[in-house]
Amino acid sequence: MADMTDNNPSDPLAQPAAFKRRGLLFVLSSPSGAGKSTISRKLLAHDPGLTMSVSATTRPMRPGEVDGKDYHFVDLERFRAMVSDNEFLEWAHVFDHRYGTPRAPVEGMLEAGHDVLFDIDWQGAQQLHQLAGGDVVRVFILPPSMIELEARLRGRGTDSNEVIERRMARAHSEIAHWDGYDYVLVNDDAESCFEKVRTILQAERLKRHRQTGLIGFIRKLDREEI
Ligand code: 5GP
Repeated sequence: MADMTDNNPSDPLAQPAAFKRRGLLFVLSSPSGAGKSTISRKLLAHDPGLTMSVSATTRPMRPGEVDGKDYHFVDLERFRAMVSDNEFLEWAHVFDHRYGTPRAPVEGMLEAGHDVLFDIDWQGAQQLHQLAGGDVVRVFILPPSMIELEARLRGRGTDSNEVIERRMARAHSEIAHWDGYDYVLVNDDAESCFEKVRTILQAERLKRHRQTGLIGFIRKLDREEI
């Protein structure tokens, strides 16, 4: 994984430039309707050092979605070719469709010194963790209650009754994987949940094992004392 520098002068939490660090793979998962996309949007808007990974999917485009921005919409044949050409960092079946994280853009973003944000399910979080271990931070967002979750799904007005029932069933199985995450938050208030996620990202960036330039800096301090 490429080293990077937190040298954004407007960021009071940035480390000195000598403190190069490893890029982060920051995973946000939740049952749909728990508010994850609002939080992702706000994180990206507030943090120029963070870039979104755009997944490929075989599911049909929803109204308002943009190909290449929300997802790369591909057919099954293309998806299968991408799997066999090892073009995905991870992929999974979710609902009746396939979703996968294209490998090359993520590697490019890390090379360019960006942390990468992933909106993927527990299967993806597990695979990324197996692949990149300590570079992955996994955050799971819970709804305050299942009643509230259903109300949010109905409030969106985008899905039929049947789809909502399936999403609720899927939510239960998604929540069952809460213990595969480093952090579990309840989204009872969008603003405070966002602040918590942002705090996690900031603290994770400061972790010692990510500061690859630290040894050189410490040696320099040592030499100054002699
Ligand atoms: P939706 O169809 O509502 O956009 O997404 C359905 C689910 O698929 C969400 O839980 C989302 O996090 C997950 N998902 C989206 N992209 C990926 C991906 O590339 N890999 C995996 N494993 N899950 C994904």
